Amino acid sequence: MTSPPITVVGAGVFGLAAAFAMARRGARVTVIEARHVGAGSSGGHVGALAPHVPENWNEKKALQLASLLAARDFWAEVAAISGRDPGYARLGRLQPVPDAATADRLAHRIDQARLRWPEDCGMSLTDRPESALVPDSPTGLWLHDALTARLSPRAACAALAGALRALGARIIEGQHADPDLIEGPALWACGTPGLLRLNEDLGRKVGQGVKGQSALLAFAAPDSPQVFADGLHIVPHADGTTAIGSTSENNYDHDRPDDQVLTLIQRARAICPALRDAPVIETWAGLRPRAQSRAPILAPWPGRPGHLIANGGFKIGFGMAPLIADLAARALLEGDTDLPPLFALP
Ligand SMILES: Cc1cc2nc3c(=O)[nH]c(=O)nc-3n(C[C@H](O)[C@H](O)[C@H](O)COP(=O)(O)OP(=O)(O)OC[C@H]3O[C@@H](n4cnc5c(N)ncnc54)[C@H](O)[C@@H]3O)c2cc1C
Repeated sequence: MTSPPITVVGAGVFGLAAAFAMARRGARVTVIEARHVGAGSSGGHVGALAPHVPENWNEKKALQLASLLAARDFWAEVAAISGRDPGYARLGRLQPVPDAATADRLAHRIDQARLRWPEDCGMSLTDRPESALVPDSPTGLWLHDALTARLSPRAACAALAGALRALGARIIEGQHADPDLIEGPALWACGTPGLLRLNEDLGRKVGQGVKGQSALLAFAAPDSPQVFADGLHIVPHADGTTAIGSTSENNYDHDRPDDQVLTLIQRARAICPALRDAPVIETWAGLRPRAQSRAPILAPWPGRPGHLIANGGFKIGFGMAPLIADLAARALLEGDTDLPPLFALP
């Protein structure tokens, strides 16, 4: 028996990754995108695939860990099928240790990482980080973790689109899809516009967009771990660039970069003096889809049988994409409705 064709609405990382997982399983998939591939919040340049802290372990952290661990094989398969490099590499992360009290507290974090994370992905303190991009540390100590990875968001979306086409899927760009006119089975992965539509459709607040701004500098450290300091992600990429992210703005008049991104660049240069003279290639802004639950959403669309929603990636959409893709494929192709309650509609 052949399964019915599947429509995926939205060519951001959630829609593309889920479409890929379904096309890999032999499904006939059409992706409909209002603008172009990666036009929404997936079109930026940060791409940190960073774990939650291992203390106070819960279901959310366990699901994120499962997705981060699935990422290496997922992106390798995308690369092999598309012939394009998504820029994935698990090179770890450095965080400066600000004071002695924090260094003491980190012993517990390192223990918890040993308990919760795979053996080859642990945390440790170092006084000699091996990196071309070392953040200043007042204590001369850094926390290193071997679990954090990076990818290039734009390259990853392009690789997913290439893999989909190679698998025979169709991608229609420049077409706005209306849920009243699309027949299921369908996956709605529409980012912030999708959350606003759900607010309207369900008559309650499901989520909203949170603006984020980032910058891309010409600084080559392709084999170095990324940096997390003072709330900033500083992520060297394979192509000789280094991304800096991000602001987090609940109130905004427009979705373009503004002066706040200049402050971001100054802060990153203060954290990593090696970036002091690195030219700015580009600044960028996007609206992160944030659910009221602060967790990703993967749930049936109430009142629309055969329609599933994948949204709410917020700050970790790229990290969660492999897991969301696999669960969405199982739900739509195999009728597996046993989705994590954490991903229910808020
Ligand atoms: C500055 C910034 C930095 C970030 N850094 C990271 C990071 O380091 N690591 C990480 O994991 N995540 C990061 N994120 C978050 C991540 O980018 C998002 O979680 C992710 O992109 C969400 O993907 P999505 O596919 O759900 O939405 P989107 O990428 O927004 O895609 C939704 C798509 O649906 C289309 N669409 C909407 N409505 C319709 C319709 N009716 N018909 C057809 N098409 C439609 C839109 O045009 C859009 O292309 C960052 C976000 C920002 C803004």
